[in-house]
Amino acid sequence: MWGVLLRSIILFCCFCGIFVSSQEFSPVSVPQEVVESAAEEKAAKKDASKCDVACAALASALPSKVFLAKEGNFQYWDSKCADLQPACRLEPESAQDVATAYGIVKEHECQFAIKSGGHGLHPGASNVEGGVVFDLSRSLNTITISADKKTVDIGPGARWLQVYEELEKDELIVLGGRVADVGVGGLILGGGISFYTAKQGFACDHVLEMEIVLPDGTITTASETNHADLFKALKGAGQSNFGIVTRFTLEAMPNPSPKGLWWSNRFFAWDKRAALSRAHTKYITEGLGNDASSLGQFQTWAQTKEYGRLIISNLWHTSHESPDSFPKTFEHYKEIEAWEGATSEMLPQSNVTIKLELSNPYGMRTSYHSFCYKPSAELEDKFAELFEEALEKIKDVDTWGFVIVQQPISRAAIAASKKRGGNAMGLEEEDGPLVIWHIPWSWFNAKDDELMRTVGRELREKSEEVAKEAGLWHRYRYTNYAEESQEAYKGYGEEMLKWLKQVQKKYDPEGIYTKGGLNSGYFKLNEKEEVVERIRDEL
Ligand SMILES: Cc1cc2nc3c(=O)[nH]c(=O)nc-3n(C[C@H](O)[C@H](O)[C@H](O)COP(=O)(O)OP(=O)(O)OC[C@H]3O[C@@H](n4cnc5c(N)ncnc54)[C@H](O)[C@@H]3O)c2cc1C
Repeated sequence: MWGVLLRSIILFCCFCGIFVSSQEFSPVSVPQEVVESAAEEKAAKKDASKCDVACAALASALPSKVFLAKEGNFQYWDSKCADLQPACRLEPESAQDVATAYGIVKEHECQFAIKSGGHGLHPGASNVEGGVVFDLSRSLNTITISADKKTVDIGPGARWLQVYEELEKDELIVLGGRVADVGVGGLILGGGISFYTAKQGFACDHVLEMEIVLPDGTITTASETNHADLFKALKGAGQSNFGIVTRFTLEAMPNPSPKGLWWSNRFFAWDKRAALSRAHTKYITEGLGNDASSLGQFQTWAQTKEYGRLIISNLWHTSHESPDSFPKTFEHYKEIEAWEGATSEMLPQSNVTIKLELSNPYGMRTSYHSFCYKPSAELEDKFAELFEEALEKIKDVDTWGFVIVQQPISRAAIAASKKRGGNAMGLEEEDGPLVIWHIPWSWFNAKDDELMRTVGRELREKSEEVAKEAGLWHRYRYTNYAEESQEAYKGYGEEMLKWLKQVQKKYDPEGIYTKGGLNSGYFKLNEKEEVVERIRDEL
């Protein structure tokens, strides 16, 4: 029975739940001439907004690529983000289309957002109320493997499942997301933690080149040898800060796990929490450094409506040969009694992402909070007390559960980040190993938004405080898991932030991508005023 029960609760957090498919898009049924005339009609009204006028101009300049209503392909993973209603959305088919549309939104001073996979969680990250959405998910999503099979060109709108399935036909892999439907664009530009990160670095570290449409409409490529500053800045700080990336060229690698990824899910009663924190810390401080094939370990503390408080341990390995035995590096987990029904299996990367998609349903309201600490079981004991306190405050919220996830960043990952000109995250090998503390809290109703945000923030701040007191707090914040108020780029370090701000000013002198500029988007590097000041100084 436990097997069935456990499978049904399989990891909340990043990793469990029920399945709501986003892949079966209904075709857009409105004929284009209707869209064009509707856009014109809206634009002609007395109360037409700048964006209504921009939408009419877009519909006429890019026929068949502009849509007024929220139909067909317009989906966001998080319902706070889906609640926003843009004036129109555009499905550009090329970098040239993006450049054309840029000219129009700028001319009409219309707010716009960029959407790849639509898994960003800040409202306004990739949707915009009353503005224009550049929606890349269906029109810029092709995957082309080079003739020598060493590289692959991927459109930002592609989903990771699509990417892995295509590559697996040639027994290749790339570093990317772990959940099927997450988009390529946002994940890579924020860093990208993959199954292979512990050994090989972040997904962004395996990018060889990016095609980008700059704020002035220029189409260019950024690589180690061309616009090297922009290339580095895009790797970790690229989400809506410099332009729209329209193609990624990634390093394709022979599949290091031809028999599949070894994957074990083990579930434990809450009274095993302290023992597991010790096992987790031992693995991060000893195992991770010694066994380069152990992909990583997730420790998840969960409070579920149905099964109470429990711990879920996800273990991965790339080169273990059989689902029937345990890799040496994880042996010590077997000493801790797990619930009946623990599973171990070997699956291709694509299949694992489908399994994890089952745990990550569309349509809830979610907020992430995150920070980093140096591995310590004693510190995790304190985090557990704070988690228990916070749960009291949200016990009446309608959801199926709450989790805290702890996942490592190895030294090897940071070392790998130095390749190809480095990335923007400002980490040095001696910073590692680190553990990411991450709450991906989901709930059903808008009435709980404020409470959830507040309790999440308080819990994160208190946990950071105890980590600081113990001298184990680290400034780094993983952008893709940070909450809106967290100023993620401050975590990259003062020097790096200063440099990123300069790069942003260089490539975006009008401040389109600044806070207060025309792009809505994620964490911003500069305030619009800072860019304006710089131009004023130069005159
Ligand atoms: C269910 C789920 C599972 C996840 N799993 C992982 C994981 O395994 N590993 C991991 O590292 N992270 C993971 N994340 C976090 C994820 O990386 C971020 O949410 C990421 O931003 C999503 O990218 P997207 O393209 O789907 O989102 P979007 O909402 O489309 O984009 C996010 C941000 O990036 C900007 N952006 C997107 N495309 C472009 C572009 N082409 N040019 C410029 N800016 C662009 C958008 O404007 C937006 O601000 C997960 C998130 C969820 C919700």
